[in-house]
Amino acid sequence: MTQPHIVWLRRDLRLADQPAFHAAAALGPVIPVYVLDDETPRHRRMGAASRWWLHHSLEALALELEAAGSRLILRRGKAAEVLATLAQETGAAAIHALRHVEPWWRMAEKELAKALDLRLYDGLYLMPPGSLRTGGGTPYKIFTPFKNALIDAIGEVDVLPAPRLSAPESWPASDKLDDWALLPTTPDWAGGFREAWTPGSAAAHARMEEFKDILAPYRQDRELPSIDGTSRLSPHLHFGEVSPRQLWHAIAGMGGQGPGFFKAELIWRDYAANLVLQFPDYGARSYREGYDEGLWRDPENDQAAAADLAAWQQGRTGYPIVDAGMRQLWHTGWMHNRVRMIAASFLVKHLLIDWRQGEQWFWDTLVDADYPSNATNWQWVSGTGVDSNMFVRIMAPLSQSEKFDAGAYIRQWVPELGKLSDPYVHDPESFRCRPRDYPAPVIGHKEGRERALAAYKAMKG
Ligand SMILES: Cc1cc2nc3c(=O)[nH]c(=O)nc-3n(C[C@H](O)[C@H](O)[C@H](O)COP(=O)(O)OP(=O)(O)OC[C@H]3O[C@@H](n4cnc5c(N)ncnc54)[C@H](O)[C@@H]3O)c2cc1C
Repeated sequence: MTQPHIVWLRRDLRLADQPAFHAAAALGPVIPVYVLDDETPRHRRMGAASRWWLHHSLEALALELEAAGSRLILRRGKAAEVLATLAQETGAAAIHALRHVEPWWRMAEKELAKALDLRLYDGLYLMPPGSLRTGGGTPYKIFTPFKNALIDAIGEVDVLPAPRLSAPESWPASDKLDDWALLPTTPDWAGGFREAWTPGSAAAHARMEEFKDILAPYRQDRELPSIDGTSRLSPHLHFGEVSPRQLWHAIAGMGGQGPGFFKAELIWRDYAANLVLQFPDYGARSYREGYDEGLWRDPENDQAAAADLAAWQQGRTGYPIVDAGMRQLWHTGWMHNRVRMIAASFLVKHLLIDWRQGEQWFWDTLVDADYPSNATNWQWVSGTGVDSNMFVRIMAPLSQSEKFDAGAYIRQWVPELGKLSDPYVHDPESFRCRPRDYPAPVIGHKEGRERALAAYKAMKG
Protein backbone atom coordinates (compact mmCIF):
# COMPACT_ATOMS: atom_id res chain seq x y z
CA MET A 1 0.00 0.00 0.00
CA THR A 2 1.38 3.46 -0.86
CA GLN A 3 1.23 5.63 2.23
CA PRO A 4 -0.79 8.81 1.72
CA HIS A 5 0.39 12.31 2.65
CA ILE A 6 -1.84 14.73 4.51
CA VAL A 7 -1.97 18.39 3.45
CA TRP A 8 -3.16 20.49 6.40
CA LEU A 9 -4.93 23.61 5.14
CA ARG A 10 -5.50 26.78 7.13
CA ARG A 11 -5.36 30.11 5.33
CA ASP A 12 -3.85 28.76 2.14
CA LEU A 13 -6.95 27.51 0.36
CA ARG A 14 -5.63 27.08 -3.16
CA LEU A 15 -4.00 24.45 -5.37
CA ALA A 16 -1.55 26.48 -7.48
CA ASP A 17 1.52 28.07 -5.90
CA GLN A 18 0.85 26.09 -2.73
CA PRO A 19 4.17 24.42 -1.84
CA ALA A 20 2.63 22.01 0.70
CA PHE A 21 0.34 20.53 -1.97
CA HIS A 22 3.20 20.45 -4.41
CA ALA A 23 5.58 18.60 -2.08
CA ALA A 24 2.94 16.11 -0.92
CA ALA A 25 1.78 15.35 -4.46
CA ALA A 26 5.34 14.50 -5.48
CA LEU A 27 5.55 11.87 -2.74
CA GLY A 28 2.29 9.93 -3.03
CA PRO A 29 -1.50 10.06 -2.72
CA VAL A 30 -2.75 13.24 -1.05
CA ILE A 31 -5.41 13.74 1.63
CA PRO A 32 -6.28 17.46 1.87
CA VAL A 33 -7.82 18.35 5.23
CA TYR A 34 -9.23 21.50 6.76
CA VAL A 35 -9.68 21.45 10.54
CA LEU A 36 -12.17 23.89 12.04
CA ASP A 37 -10.32 24.66 15.24
CA ASP A 38 -11.81 27.10 17.74
CA GLU A 39 -9.73 25.73 20.61
CA THR A 40 -6.17 26.47 19.52
CA PRO A 41 -6.70 30.20 18.86
CA ARG A 42 -8.84 30.46 22.06
CA HIS A 43 -10.14 34.08 22.30
CA ARG A 44 -8.84 34.58 18.73
CA ARG A 45 -11.39 32.19 17.27
CA MET A 46 -12.39 33.27 13.80
CA GLY A 47 -14.95 36.10 13.75
CA ALA A 48 -18.43 35.94 12.24
CA ALA A 49 -17.61 37.68 8.94
CA SER A 50 -14.57 35.46 8.38
CA ARG A 51 -16.66 32.37 9.07
CA TRP A 52 -19.05 33.44 6.30
CA TRP A 53 -16.12 33.74 3.92
CA LEU A 54 -14.59 30.46 5.08
CA HIS A 55 -17.78 28.53 4.32
CA HIS A 56 -17.84 29.67 0.71
CA SER A 57 -14.11 29.36 0.26
CA LEU A 58 -14.13 25.74 1.45
CA GLU A 59 -17.08 25.01 -0.80
CA ALA A 60 -15.15 26.40 -3.79
CA LEU A 61 -11.98 24.51 -2.89
CA ALA A 62 -13.89 21.23 -2.49
CA LEU A 63 -15.26 21.63 -6.03
CA GLU A 64 -11.81 22.38 -7.39
CA LEU A 65 -10.38 19.32 -5.66
CA GLU A 66 -13.17 17.10 -6.97
CA ALA A 67 -12.51 18.33 -10.49
CA ALA A 68 -8.87 17.31 -9.94
CA GLY A 69 -9.91 13.80 -8.83
CA SER A 70 -9.39 14.54 -5.14
CA ARG A 71 -11.52 15.53 -2.13
CA LEU A 72 -11.53 17.95 0.77
CA ILE A 73 -11.78 16.24 4.16
CA LEU A 74 -13.34 18.35 6.92
CA ARG A 75 -12.73 17.70 10.59
CA ARG A 76 -13.46 19.73 13.69
CA GLY A 77 -11.52 20.08 16.98
CA LYS A 78 -8.06 20.89 18.29
CA ALA A 79 -5.87 20.71 15.18
CA ALA A 80 -2.90 18.91 16.76
CA GLU A 81 -5.18 16.18 18.16
CA VAL A 82 -7.41 15.89 15.09
CA LEU A 83 -4.40 15.57 12.79
CA ALA A 84 -2.73 12.97 15.00
CA THR A 85 -5.92 10.88 14.88
CA LEU A 86 -6.27 11.33 11.13
CA ALA A 87 -2.64 10.38 10.53
CA GLN A 88 -3.18 7.19 12.52
CA GLU A 89 -6.49 6.36 10.79
CA THR A 90 -5.02 6.78 7.32
CA GLY A 91 -1.49 5.52 7.95
CA ALA A 92 -0.20 8.81 6.53
CA ALA A 93 3.55 9.08 6.03
CA ALA A 94 3.71 12.81 6.83
CA ILE A 95 1.72 16.02 7.23
CA HIS A 96 2.54 18.94 4.95
CA ALA A 97 1.52 22.51 5.72
CA LEU A 98 2.43 26.13 5.10
CA ARG A 99 4.17 27.90 7.97
CA HIS A 100 1.92 30.46 9.73
CA VAL A 101 3.01 33.38 11.93
CA GLU A 102 0.06 33.62 14.31
CA PRO A 103 1.40 32.69 17.76
CA TRP A 104 -1.30 30.05 18.30
CA TRP A 105 -0.47 28.33 15.02
CA ARG A 106 3.22 28.40 15.77
CA MET A 107 2.52 26.65 19.06
CA ALA A 108 0.31 24.07 17.33
CA GLU A 109 3.01 23.45 14.71
CA LYS A 110 5.57 22.87 17.49
CA GLU A 111 3.27 20.50 19.32
CA LEU A 112 2.46 18.53 16.19
CA ALA A 113 6.10 18.28 15.13
CA LYS A 114 6.94 16.55 18.43
CA ALA A 115 4.61 13.66 17.67
CA LEU A 116 4.48 13.44 13.88
CA ASP A 117 6.46 14.03 10.73
CA LEU A 118 5.31 17.61 10.08
CA ARG A 119 6.88 19.27 7.06
CA LEU A 120 6.49 23.04 6.85
CA TYR A 121 6.92 25.25 3.80
CA ASP A 122 6.82 29.00 3.13
CA GLY A 123 4.07 30.24 0.86
CA LEU A 124 1.86 32.77 2.64
CA TYR A 125 4.06 35.80 1.96
CA LEU A 126 6.31 37.35 -0.68
CA MET A 127 9.36 36.36 1.35
CA PRO A 128 9.61 33.95 4.31
CA PRO A 129 8.84 35.97 7.48
CA GLY A 130 12.01 36.48 9.49
CA SER A 131 14.28 36.03 6.47
CA LEU A 132 15.08 39.72 5.98
CA ARG A 133 17.64 41.16 8.39
CA THR A 134 19.21 44.56 8.96
CA GLY A 135 22.97 45.04 8.54
CA GLY A 136 23.23 44.31 12.27
CA GLY A 137 21.52 40.93 11.79
CA THR A 138 18.28 41.86 13.56
CA PRO A 139 14.76 41.72 12.11
CA TYR A 140 13.29 44.99 10.81
CA LYS A 141 10.99 47.17 12.90
CA ILE A 142 10.44 50.08 10.51
CA PHE A 143 8.52 49.74 7.25
CA THR A 144 10.62 51.68 4.72
CA PRO A 145 13.94 49.87 5.29
CA PHE A 146 12.01 46.58 5.35
CA LYS A 147 10.40 47.44 2.02
CA ASN A 148 13.74 48.38 0.44
CA ALA A 149 15.35 45.17 1.69
CA LEU A 150 12.50 43.08 0.29
CA ILE A 151 12.68 44.74 -3.11
CA ASP A 152 16.45 44.12 -3.19
CA ALA A 153 16.08 40.49 -2.15
CA ILE A 154 13.05 39.18 -3.99
CA GLY A 155 14.50 38.82 -7.50
CA GLU A 156 12.41 37.29 -10.28
CA VAL A 157 9.33 35.61 -8.88
CA ASP A 158 8.34 32.17 -10.16
CA VAL A 159 5.07 30.53 -9.20
CA LEU A 160 4.15 26.86 -8.96
CA PRO A 161 1.42 25.39 -11.15
CA ALA A 162 -1.38 23.30 -9.59
CA PRO A 163 0.01 19.82 -8.90
CA ARG A 164 -1.46 16.58 -10.22
CA LEU A 165 -3.11 14.88 -7.29
CA SER A 166 -3.59 11.16 -6.83
CA ALA A 167 -6.23 9.76 -4.50
CA PRO A 168 -5.56 7.48 -1.53
CA GLU A 169 -6.85 3.87 -1.69
CA SER A 170 -9.66 4.82 0.63
CA TRP A 171 -10.89 8.19 1.84
CA PRO A 172 -11.29 8.96 5.55
CA ALA A 173 -14.67 10.20 6.79
CA SER A 174 -15.43 13.91 6.51
CA ASP A 175 -17.78 16.29 8.33
CA LYS A 176 -20.46 18.00 6.26
CA LEU A 177 -19.72 21.69 5.73
CA ASP A 178 -23.33 22.70 6.46
CA ASP A 179 -23.14 21.03 9.87
CA TRP A 180 -20.47 23.54 10.91
CA ALA A 181 -23.06 26.34 10.82
CA LEU A 182 -20.57 28.94 9.62
CA LEU A 183 -23.29 30.99 7.92
CA PRO A 184 -25.64 33.29 9.83
CA THR A 185 -29.29 32.22 9.92
CA THR A 186 -31.35 34.20 12.41
CA PRO A 187 -30.89 36.93 11.48
CA ASP A 188 -29.25 36.39 8.10
CA TRP A 189 -27.08 39.53 8.01
CA ALA A 190 -25.03 38.39 5.01
CA GLY A 191 -27.15 39.83 2.16
CA GLY A 192 -24.65 42.62 1.52
CA PHE A 193 -21.79 40.14 1.67
CA ARG A 194 -23.38 38.01 -1.05
CA GLU A 195 -23.76 41.08 -3.26
CA ALA A 196 -20.19 42.23 -2.69
CA TRP A 197 -18.16 39.02 -2.86
CA THR A 198 -17.49 35.71 -4.55
CA PRO A 199 -15.04 33.76 -2.38
CA GLY A 200 -12.72 31.16 -3.91
CA SER A 201 -9.60 30.94 -6.07
CA ALA A 202 -11.37 31.30 -9.42
CA ALA A 203 -13.01 34.57 -8.34
CA ALA A 204 -9.71 35.81 -6.89
CA HIS A 205 -7.97 35.26 -10.21
CA ALA A 206 -10.83 36.86 -12.13
CA ARG A 207 -10.60 39.92 -9.87
CA MET A 208 -6.86 40.03 -10.35
CA GLU A 209 -7.30 40.15 -14.12
CA GLU A 210 -9.97 42.85 -13.82
CA PHE A 211 -7.77 44.84 -11.47
CA LYS A 212 -4.87 44.88 -13.92
CA ASP A 213 -7.03 47.15 -16.10
CA ILE A 214 -7.36 49.74 -13.33
CA LEU A 215 -3.83 49.45 -11.98
CA ALA A 216 -2.29 52.34 -13.95
CA PRO A 217 -3.93 55.14 -11.87
CA TYR A 218 -3.73 53.10 -8.61
CA ARG A 219 -1.34 55.58 -6.99
CA GLN A 220 -4.04 58.28 -6.87
CA ASP A 221 -7.19 56.18 -7.05
CA ARG A 222 -6.40 53.97 -4.05
CA GLU A 223 -6.97 57.02 -1.82
CA LEU A 224 -10.50 57.69 -3.08
CA PRO A 225 -13.24 55.68 -1.36
CA SER A 226 -15.92 56.78 -3.85
CA ILE A 227 -14.39 54.80 -6.70
CA ASP A 228 -13.37 51.20 -7.31
CA GLY A 229 -9.67 52.01 -7.24
CA THR A 230 -8.14 49.21 -5.14
CA SER A 231 -7.90 45.50 -5.79
CA ARG A 232 -10.33 44.30 -3.08
CA LEU A 233 -8.22 41.19 -2.97
CA SER A 234 -7.59 41.33 0.80
CA PRO A 235 -10.00 38.53 1.84
CA HIS A 236 -8.78 36.36 -1.05
CA LEU A 237 -5.21 36.99 0.10
CA HIS A 238 -6.05 36.38 3.74
CA PHE A 239 -7.58 32.97 3.00
CA GLY A 240 -4.80 32.18 0.55
CA GLU A 241 -7.07 31.77 -2.46
CA VAL A 242 -4.42 33.68 -4.35
CA SER A 243 -0.81 34.06 -3.21
CA PRO A 244 0.98 37.42 -3.03
CA ARG A 245 3.69 35.93 -5.25
CA GLN A 246 1.08 35.11 -7.90
CA LEU A 247 0.02 38.78 -7.81
CA TRP A 248 3.62 39.99 -7.97
CA HIS A 249 4.24 37.64 -10.89
CA ALA A 250 1.04 38.73 -12.67
CA ILE A 251 2.06 42.39 -12.74
CA ALA A 252 5.78 41.88 -13.41
CA GLY A 253 6.76 43.87 -16.46
CA MET A 254 3.85 46.33 -16.21
CA GLY A 255 5.15 49.90 -16.41
CA GLY A 256 4.05 53.13 -14.68
CA GLN A 257 3.68 54.02 -11.02
CA GLY A 258 0.57 51.92 -10.30
CA PRO A 259 2.32 48.53 -10.08
CA GLY A 260 5.08 49.92 -7.85
CA PHE A 261 2.58 51.37 -5.38
CA PHE A 262 0.55 48.16 -5.42
CA LYS A 263 3.68 46.11 -4.68
CA ALA A 264 4.40 48.43 -1.73
CA GLU A 265 0.94 47.59 -0.31
CA LEU A 266 1.65 43.88 -0.66
CA ILE A 267 4.90 44.51 1.21
CA TRP A 268 2.90 46.03 4.10
CA ARG A 269 1.30 42.62 4.46
CA ASP A 270 4.73 40.97 4.69
CA TYR A 271 5.89 43.68 7.09
CA ALA A 272 2.97 42.94 9.42
CA ALA A 273 3.86 39.24 9.46
CA ASN A 274 7.48 40.18 10.16
CA LEU A 275 6.38 42.24 13.20
CA VAL A 276 4.10 39.54 14.60
CA LEU A 277 6.85 36.97 14.29
CA GLN A 278 9.02 39.24 16.47
CA PHE A 279 6.21 40.36 18.79
CA PRO A 280 3.62 37.58 19.01
CA ASP A 281 1.32 39.58 21.28
CA TYR A 282 1.27 42.62 18.97
CA GLY A 283 -2.52 42.38 18.83
CA ALA A 284 -2.84 42.27 22.62
CA ARG A 285 -0.79 45.13 24.04
CA SER A 286 0.70 48.49 23.16
CA TYR A 287 4.39 48.43 22.42
CA ARG A 288 5.07 51.87 23.80
CA GLU A 289 5.13 52.38 27.51
CA GLY A 290 2.27 53.93 29.41
CA TYR A 291 -0.51 53.59 26.85
CA ASP A 292 -2.17 50.58 28.44
CA GLU A 293 -2.19 52.17 31.90
CA GLY A 294 -4.81 54.87 32.12
CA LEU A 295 -4.74 56.75 28.82
CA TRP A 296 -8.03 55.41 27.56
CA ARG A 297 -11.63 55.94 28.58
CA ASP A 298 -12.96 52.55 29.63
CA PRO A 299 -16.34 51.50 28.15
CA GLU A 300 -16.71 48.87 30.87
CA ASN A 301 -16.71 51.43 33.68
CA ASP A 302 -17.77 54.61 31.95
CA GLN A 303 -21.26 54.88 30.45
CA ALA A 304 -20.40 57.78 28.17
CA ALA A 305 -17.45 55.86 26.75
CA ALA A 306 -19.67 52.79 26.26
CA ALA A 307 -22.20 54.91 24.36
CA ASP A 308 -19.43 56.40 22.19
CA LEU A 309 -18.06 52.96 21.39
CA ALA A 310 -21.55 51.75 20.39
CA ALA A 311 -22.06 54.84 18.20
CA TRP A 312 -18.76 54.13 16.46
CA GLN A 313 -19.61 50.46 15.92
CA GLN A 314 -23.05 51.31 14.54
CA GLY A 315 -21.91 54.19 12.34
CA ARG A 316 -23.80 56.85 14.28
CA THR A 317 -21.01 59.18 15.43
CA GLY A 318 -22.30 62.20 13.50
CA TYR A 319 -19.06 62.24 11.46
CA PRO A 320 -20.23 61.26 7.95
CA ILE A 321 -16.97 59.75 6.71
CA VAL A 322 -16.58 57.64 9.86
CA ASP A 323 -20.20 56.51 9.77
CA ALA A 324 -20.04 55.65 6.06
CA GLY A 325 -16.99 53.47 6.71
CA MET A 326 -18.46 51.70 9.71
CA ARG A 327 -21.67 50.98 7.79
CA GLN A 328 -19.79 49.73 4.75
CA LEU A 329 -17.97 47.40 7.12
CA TRP A 330 -21.20 46.14 8.68
CA HIS A 331 -22.93 45.56 5.35
CA THR A 332 -20.09 44.11 3.30
CA GLY A 333 -17.40 42.96 5.76
CA TRP A 334 -14.86 45.33 4.18
CA MET A 335 -13.87 48.98 4.45
CA HIS A 336 -11.74 51.15 2.18
CA ASN A 337 -8.19 51.57 3.52
CA ARG A 338 -8.27 55.39 3.72
CA VAL A 339 -11.52 55.19 5.67
CA ARG A 340 -10.14 52.45 7.94
CA MET A 341 -7.40 54.90 8.91
CA ILE A 342 -9.88 57.73 9.52
CA ALA A 343 -12.35 55.58 11.49
CA ALA A 344 -9.59 53.97 13.57
CA SER A 345 -7.97 57.29 14.35
CA PHE A 346 -11.35 58.71 15.34
CA LEU A 347 -11.98 55.90 17.84
CA VAL A 348 -8.55 56.13 19.40
CA LYS A 349 -8.02 59.91 19.43
CA HIS A 350 -11.39 61.70 19.28
CA LEU A 351 -13.13 59.14 21.45
CA LEU A 352 -10.02 58.19 23.42
CA ILE A 353 -10.98 54.53 23.39
CA ASP A 354 -8.34 51.79 23.54
CA TRP A 355 -7.29 50.60 20.06
CA ARG A 356 -7.80 47.01 21.20
CA GLN A 357 -11.58 47.63 21.30
CA GLY A 358 -11.42 48.65 17.64
CA GLU A 359 -9.11 45.80 16.73
CA GLN A 360 -11.58 43.32 18.26
CA TRP A 361 -14.52 44.87 16.40
CA PHE A 362 -12.63 44.65 13.11
CA TRP A 363 -11.62 41.07 13.96
CA ASP A 364 -15.26 40.09 14.16
CA THR A 365 -16.64 42.13 11.28
CA LEU A 366 -13.97 42.11 8.52
CA VAL A 367 -13.94 39.37 5.90
CA ASP A 368 -10.20 40.05 5.60
CA ALA A 369 -9.62 40.01 9.40
CA ASP A 370 -5.97 39.10 9.66
CA TYR A 371 -4.09 39.00 12.97
CA PRO A 372 -0.79 40.51 11.75
CA SER A 373 -2.32 43.15 9.45
CA ASN A 374 -5.03 44.18 11.87
CA ALA A 375 -2.70 44.47 14.86
CA THR A 376 0.01 46.28 12.91
CA ASN A 377 -2.36 48.82 11.40
CA TRP A 378 -4.16 49.52 14.66
CA GLN A 379 -0.87 50.08 16.49
CA TRP A 380 0.33 52.23 13.59
CA VAL A 381 -2.77 54.46 13.59
CA SER A 382 -2.65 54.72 17.38
CA GLY A 383 1.05 55.55 17.56
CA THR A 384 1.50 52.77 20.12
CA GLY A 385 3.65 50.45 18.00
CA VAL A 386 7.33 49.84 17.30
CA ASP A 387 7.25 51.92 14.10
CA SER A 388 7.71 55.65 13.92
CA ASN A 389 4.13 56.95 13.93
CA MET A 390 3.03 59.08 16.89
CA PHE A 391 -0.16 59.38 18.95
CA VAL A 392 -0.06 63.17 18.73
CA ARG A 393 -0.53 63.14 14.95
CA ILE A 394 -4.30 63.54 14.96
CA MET A 395 -6.27 63.15 11.73
CA ALA A 396 -9.05 65.65 11.03
CA PRO A 397 -11.90 63.46 9.73
CA LEU A 398 -13.91 66.28 8.13
CA SER A 399 -11.07 67.68 6.06
CA GLN A 400 -9.89 64.16 5.15
CA SER A 401 -13.38 63.53 3.81
CA GLU A 402 -13.17 66.56 1.52
CA LYS A 403 -9.58 66.00 0.54
CA PHE A 404 -10.28 62.45 -0.61
CA ASP A 405 -13.56 63.38 -2.28
CA ALA A 406 -15.70 61.02 -0.22
CA GLY A 407 -19.07 62.66 -1.04
CA ALA A 408 -20.47 59.89 -3.23
CA TYR A 409 -19.20 57.27 -0.77
CA ILE A 410 -21.02 58.96 2.11
CA ARG A 411 -24.24 59.30 0.11
CA GLN A 412 -24.04 55.58 -0.73
CA TRP A 413 -23.57 54.33 2.84
CA VAL A 414 -25.41 56.94 4.91
CA PRO A 415 -28.82 57.24 3.26
CA GLU A 416 -29.91 59.96 5.72
CA LEU A 417 -27.34 62.16 3.95
CA GLY A 418 -28.23 60.93 0.46
CA LYS A 419 -29.70 64.26 -0.62
CA LEU A 420 -26.80 66.45 0.52
CA SER A 421 -24.38 67.57 -2.17
CA ASP A 422 -20.72 68.48 -1.74
CA PRO A 423 -19.41 70.21 0.32
CA TYR A 424 -22.37 69.96 2.76
CA VAL A 425 -22.31 66.19 2.97
CA HIS A 426 -18.84 66.18 4.55
CA ASP A 427 -19.87 68.30 7.53
CA PRO A 428 -23.63 68.86 7.75
CA GLU A 429 -23.36 70.13 11.34
CA SER A 430 -21.18 73.14 10.50
CA PHE A 431 -23.24 73.93 7.40
CA ARG A 432 -26.40 73.76 9.55
CA CYS A 433 -28.06 71.27 7.24
CA ARG A 434 -27.99 68.10 9.34
CA PRO A 435 -31.14 66.06 8.68
CA ARG A 436 -33.17 65.27 11.80
CA ASP A 437 -32.64 61.55 11.51
CA TYR A 438 -28.85 61.90 11.42
CA PRO A 439 -27.09 62.19 14.81
CA ALA A 440 -25.20 65.26 16.00
CA PRO A 441 -21.42 64.72 16.35
CA VAL A 442 -20.63 62.76 19.52
CA ILE A 443 -17.81 65.23 20.17
CA GLY A 444 -16.56 68.35 18.33
CA HIS A 445 -13.30 68.00 16.40
CA LYS A 446 -11.50 70.66 18.39
CA GLU A 447 -12.79 69.35 21.71
CA GLY A 448 -11.84 65.75 20.82
CA ARG A 449 -8.41 66.77 19.70
CA GLU A 450 -7.75 68.80 22.84
CA ARG A 451 -9.00 66.01 25.10
CA ALA A 452 -6.68 63.52 23.37
CA LEU A 453 -3.66 65.81 23.65
CA ALA A 454 -4.40 66.57 27.31
CA ALA A 455 -4.71 62.86 28.12
CA TYR A 456 -1.45 62.22 26.32
CA LYS A 457 0.28 64.97 28.28
CA ALA A 458 -1.08 63.60 31.54
CA MET A 459 0.12 60.11 30.64
CA LYS A 460 3.59 61.43 29.93
CA GLY A 461 3.48 63.09 33.38
C1 LIG B 1 -7.08 50.00 11.35
C2 LIG B 1 -6.77 49.12 10.17
C3 LIG B 1 -7.00 47.74 10.25
C4 LIG B 1 -6.71 46.92 9.16
N1 LIG B 1 -6.96 45.57 9.26
C5 LIG B 1 -6.66 44.75 8.21
C6 LIG B 1 -6.93 43.36 8.30
O1 LIG B 1 -7.40 42.82 9.29
N2 LIG B 1 -6.64 42.61 7.19
C7 LIG B 1 -6.09 43.14 6.05
O2 LIG B 1 -5.85 42.40 5.09
N3 LIG B 1 -5.81 44.45 5.98
C8 LIG B 1 -6.09 45.27 7.01
N4 LIG B 1 -5.83 46.62 6.90
C9 LIG B 1 -5.07 47.12 5.74
C10 LIG B 1 -5.86 47.63 4.53
O3 LIG B 1 -6.84 48.52 4.93
C11 LIG B 1 -6.49 46.50 3.71
O4 LIG B 1 -5.54 45.50 3.44
C12 LIG B 1 -7.02 47.05 2.39
O5 LIG B 1 -7.97 48.05 2.62
C13 LIG B 1 -7.64 45.93 1.59
O6 LIG B 1 -8.22 46.40 0.42
P1 LIG B 1 -7.62 46.03 -1.00
O7 LIG B 1 -7.45 44.56 -1.09
O8 LIG B 1 -8.47 46.67 -2.02
O9 LIG B 1 -6.20 46.72 -0.94
P2 LIG B 1 -5.18 47.13 -2.09
O10 LIG B 1 -4.96 48.59 -2.00
O11 LIG B 1 -5.58 46.59 -3.39
O12 LIG B 1 -3.83 46.44 -1.60
C14 LIG B 1 -3.43 45.14 -2.03
C15 LIG B 1 -3.18 44.24 -0.86
O13 LIG B 1 -2.09 44.71 -0.09
C16 LIG B 1 -2.31 44.41 1.29
N5 LIG B 1 -2.36 45.67 2.04
C17 LIG B 1 -2.74 46.89 1.60
N6 LIG B 1 -2.61 47.81 2.57
C18 LIG B 1 -2.15 47.15 3.66
C19 LIG B 1 -1.82 47.55 4.97
N7 LIG B 1 -1.91 48.82 5.39
N8 LIG B 1 -1.40 46.60 5.85
C20 LIG B 1 -1.27 45.30 5.48
N9 LIG B 1 -1.57 44.88 4.23
C21 LIG B 1 -2.00 45.79 3.33
C22 LIG B 1 -3.64 43.70 1.39
O14 LIG B 1 -3.41 42.30 1.40
C23 LIG B 1 -4.34 44.13 0.10
O15 LIG B 1 -5.30 43.21 -0.34
C24 LIG B 1 -6.15 47.48 7.99
C25 LIG B 1 -5.93 48.85 7.91
C26 LIG B 1 -6.24 49.68 8.98
C27 LIG B 1 -5.97 51.14 8.88
